[in-house]
Amino acid sequence: MGDVKMKVVKFGGSSLASGRAVEKVFEIAAADESRKIIVVSAPGKRFPEDEKVTDMLIDCGIYALEKEGMPPKLEKIVERYSRIAAELGLDNKAEEVRGRLLDTMASGKERPEYFLEKVKACGEDLNARLIAEYFSSRGIEASYVNPGEAGLYVTDEPGNARALPEAYINLKSLRERKGIIIFPGFFGYSKQGDVLTFSRSGSDITGSILANGIEAELYENFTDVDAVYSVNPHTVSSPKEIRELTYREMRELSYAGFSVFHDEALIPAYKAGITVNVKNTNNPEAPGTRIVGERDNTNGPVIGIASDKGFCSIYVSKYLMNREIGFGRRILQILEDFGLSYEHTPSGIDDLSIILRQHQFDHAAEEQIAARIKEELEADEVVIEHDLALIMVVGEGMRHNVGTMARASKALAAAKVNIEMINQGSSEVSMMFGVKENDESRAVKALYEEFFEPARTAVR
Ligand code: ASP
Repeated sequence: MGDVKMKVVKFGGSSLASGRAVEKVFEIAAADESRKIIVVSAPGKRFPEDEKVTDMLIDCGIYALEKEGMPPKLEKIVERYSRIAAELGLDNKAEEVRGRLLDTMASGKERPEYFLEKVKACGEDLNARLIAEYFSSRGIEASYVNPGEAGLYVTDEPGNARALPEAYINLKSLRERKGIIIFPGFFGYSKQGDVLTFSRSGSDITGSILANGIEAELYENFTDVDAVYSVNPHTVSSPKEIRELTYREMRELSYAGFSVFHDEALIPAYKAGITVNVKNTNNPEAPGTRIVGERDNTNGPVIGIASDKGFCSIYVSKYLMNREIGFGRRILQILEDFGLSYEHTPSGIDDLSIILRQHQFDHAAEEQIAARIKEELEADEVVIEHDLALIMVVGEGMRHNVGTMARASKALAAAKVNIEMINQGSSEVSMMFGVKENDESRAVKALYEEFFEPARTAVR
């Protein structure tokens, strides 16, 4: 059994939002018998104003913690599953779904964080049960497997769990099960038996853990786009699709806003050397994007451009900073005292900037931090700048190409974008530009034209 080729296939919420969508999922699963494990999300949005089941579950959980009586969203959730079941020709599901939800909410309110975790996880759990039933009704041997039963143990970190090393070992035995396994994404169990979820959109993580555990030949991640695009399609229309990129390139891009594939989901696949293939449920014939360990760098220096808003920088200058032992440590200690994590620290001889995500602290904390840096480190100047966007220009090919930075900064200058900060990571897989949020979209367009549409730039 050990060398039988098996694939793990994950479907996102938008691929499971209606009966018709689930039928497509069935067709994809049935088309290739090596598709052994199907990981499912909770039903997502059917149209832009629709609500995701997970969001409704969170509302229900909070309502149950704060108020008496039936949470108003509960019946809406029941209705979502019932409708999907009806569209699939299954028996009425209302009673079963309502029963399971009420059962879950009947206990555990004295530990609110854990209570919310188990309520949230119902979205995936109910969906996996329903889909297993549907697959069976279509004559395929399929069974729902609970993450606890499979030994998917995770750390005790509500909303942010990580798989424990033994989980990978336990999951390997799933290879021996007969038929297709329908596995709910997004959650596992602590050693104490509590349900714990991964961070949001975490079904990608479940798929990757399973792929590693069963030593899959491929991890297929089905979503609602044909490929990972080289730039956000909301900024540039019809951007180039990426056929192949490395784990490191994907990590850099998803850090700055590429949400097609969860960045934490890269690690388990990467560690086991498993290729991830991002594909479209509505167009399964399209090749999609492959995330691999190594690739040919035939596309030029840059593979993608990502950007994200909501950063601020703390600029600190002090004459002779370079000679002062422990300056960096003391400044970071102050941030640690405020429970802040930082993103980057570009530095000069007498100055240093610390880039942080702005949402972590308010104005009062900012003033206290600036005052402490001034007093305790006797800094000459401390300036906090807000509303920065970070733009990541990513590509393994940069290492072998001369002049990428020059091209990027020239393109930004031509678009009249003022660069607030430049940082090139030691890995040379990416270059980062800090710009004002107002300039973000112009900057991204200019960089895209420079690296992906040089002909257009030349004509202008
Ligand atoms: N349903 C969960 C969420 O909305 C997890 C997932 O879809 O991957 O975050």
